[in-house]
Amino acid sequence: MLSVVVEQPNQMAVRERPQPQPSAAEVRVRVRYAGICGSDVHILHGKNPFVVYPRVIGHEFVGRIDAVGEGVDRARIGELVAVDPVISCGQCHACLAGRRNVCRNLQVIGVHRDGGFSEYMTAPASNAYTIPADVPETSSAIIEPFAVAAQVTTRTGVFDSDIALIYGAGPVGLNILQVLTGVHGIRALITDQIDERLDLARMCGAGADDVINTKREALPEALAKRGVDGGPTLIYDAVGHPSILEEAVRIAAPAGRIGVLGFSTHPSAIPQQELTKKELTLYASRLNCSMFPRVIEWVAKGLVHPERIITHRIDFRDVSDAFAVVEGSPKDACKVLLEFTGSA
Ligand code: MN
Repeated sequence: MLSVVVEQPNQMAVRERPQPQPSAAEVRVRVRYAGICGSDVHILHGKNPFVVYPRVIGHEFVGRIDAVGEGVDRARIGELVAVDPVISCGQCHACLAGRRNVCRNLQVIGVHRDGGFSEYMTAPASNAYTIPADVPETSSAIIEPFAVAAQVTTRTGVFDSDIALIYGAGPVGLNILQVLTGVHGIRALITDQIDERLDLARMCGAGADDVINTKREALPEALAKRGVDGGPTLIYDAVGHPSILEEAVRIAAPAGRIGVLGFSTHPSAIPQQELTKKELTLYASRLNCSMFPRVIEWVAKGLVHPERIITHRIDFRDVSDAFAVVEGSPKDACKVLLEFTGSA
């Protein structure tokens, strides 16, 4: 079988490798589609501190179970499944506290162990979630980035009275937007520096005037102009630049909550006074904690629409071209899917 392997930083290849066999309690998945994530680009460029090379990357994917290990019901063979990349130990403090996504012994598929950019891969059977018959395979490939949005919105909570601001109309920001507007029905404004991304944001639930190009407009004034009196009550940083958190604590409304998803190693200069005088809460959010069933239900009910962010489908053997599109064409490309032949 063929797999996309990052051999070492900046060296990616499609390699022939032995087909993996499912261990006890595992399934083998014949991959159909896989989404390219910003974090895959980071792994390629050696900017992910957790990854060990060589690595088969890919943590957003869908495929059909084609073999099962000992102890797994053989009736699952043939099921279309989306695989949650979060594997946890179940024993540590975080796991016992219901926070398995920050397990002390966390193993992420496509980061710590081989992932979904492969014709076949193996995963714990309990990580493989059945996709309902009427949900398209392409949409099912990107349950994971919607689970990330489900996680951060669950962390912050969402009130009917919230007015939200999302920094960044990339895949994560747009998915948060879909969750806030499609599932919770609240008003959400979104920023970016690329107009095409903001056009996409309008299709993902932002009001026609609720998009802000921060290259042209300063944010506090832009919010005031749009009637956001007293600042957003709920803010998400889907960009991850340290200056954004600094601005977010300044503009947040009293009792505001801020969801933080970035992985920057640079410090943010946050005055304690801004936090204390408004009693703000910062919610860090990583990956997802058992959100796949919830997201699959949202997709099946039409509350969120993964297909709205999918802009490209590229054969996995042309993975280098696909990465070039992700990195080089932010105006045209949002979510790029790798297509595998495993449909039969
Ligand atoms: Mn991802």
